[in-house]
Amino acid sequence: MPTDSTGITVSGLKFEYPNESFAIRVDSLVVMPGEAVAIVGPSGCGKSTLLRVMAGLLSPHAGRVQMGAHDVHSLSARALREFRLRSVGLVFQDFALLDYLTVEENVLLPVRLGGFDSESSVARAHELIGQLGIAVHTRRLTREISQGERQRVAIARALAHQPRFVFADEPTASLDAVRRDIVGSLLLDYARRESAPLILVTHDPALQQRFDRVVDFTELSA
Ligand code: ADP
Repeated sequence: MPTDSTGITVSGLKFEYPNESFAIRVDSLVVMPGEAVAIVGPSGCGKSTLLRVMAGLLSPHAGRVQMGAHDVHSLSARALREFRLRSVGLVFQDFALLDYLTVEENVLLPVRLGGFDSESSVARAHELIGQLGIAVHTRRLTREISQGERQRVAIARALAHQPRFVFADEPTASLDAVRRDIVGSLLLDYARRESAPLILVTHDPALQQRFDRVVDFTELSA
């Protein structure tokens, strides 16, 4: 299937956890550059698993995830790590922050691990920290701040390296209505400005409404 050079195409995807404990199947999902897609479905149906396979963290047993020019799962382990660090922004449901690092250090982690630390990336990290209302905590350890603040650190970290593809798993779950709105706008504006596909799992109806498309996970396998 033809894909624009910065879109995402998933085809014939099958993934199974060890011991056949749970499996997902996605026949086809195409997300265009700059398109914002919300994935919905009952708890436990496999939405987070799909995000992890798409983002290259879990390897499928069959099928392809094409992101721009890359067939993600045919890359070597090293090339995949590099691709993820450079091109993928991922907000995990449990945030996956390093509690012994400060807010600023957590946000800059992908930039530093990827070796593309620069004045502009540091400035961008600070701008995101400010936009997300956590500037006052910049030098505090993430274990010392609230759950909602930690969620916003995870969002700043996902965007600081200007990824070409953004995935977010329930990125507003710990936030009040005002913060949910700010985070939603930040992610949507980013996707449109950078022409980055944005794929987000959310139960939040107000957020779903703002997306280009809402996809029911249970309908992805015919
Ligand atoms: P959702 O995001 O839709 O709530 P998940 O993808 O988190 O669903 O989980 C789907 C199923 O996969 C659940 O039954 C969950 O228990 C199972 N699961 C999640 N992670 C693992 C794992 N690491 N090993 C085995 N099973 C898992």
